[in-house]
Amino acid sequence: MKRLSWNQYFMAQSHLLSSRSTCTRLAVGATIVRDKRMIAGGYNGSIAGGTHCIDEGCYVIDNHCVRTIHAEMNALLQCAKFGVATEGAEIYVTHFPCLQCCKALIQAGIKAIYYAEDYKNHPYAIELLEQAHVKMEKVPLDKDIFLSFAQNS
Ligand SMILES: [Zn+2]
Ligand SMILES: [Zn+2]
Repeated sequence: MKRLSWNQYFMAQSHLLSSRSTCTRLAVGATIVRDKRMIAGGYNGSIAGGTHCIDEGCYVIDNHCVRTIHAEMNALLQCAKFGVATEGAEIYVTHFPCLQCCKALIQAGIKAIYYAEDYKNHPYAIELLEQAHVKMEKVPLDKDIFLSFAQNS
């Protein structure tokens, strides 16, 4: 049995998280990792206990769903809620983060962003990430890993 790489392991976790998303526009998952350990995870969804887009439709203003908190923000906020430091940590996301999330990630001290798919990669976000020396690396998910895991279990 082939051992899973760290990159694929954390990227798979983010994809698993994205399956919990409650917004029908895009299912995103994010995993914050420090010293090869997952310290937080998030998916895009409503405020806890709030109305879900999957039940009542998205609340769209200016072509954005304003109901949802993005996966990256949810992961950061989980760290804030439980007092977990994010300085020097890394994040694995299913899609390249939006400008607002990129700014939040930089400000939270995230040092690397691994993303599986490009998604409207904002030029200003890239400029800010480069300025802050945040590493950006595309890590496409190897979908066969789920298959090989299922066969081995
Ligand atoms: Zn929505
Ligand atoms: Zn975002």
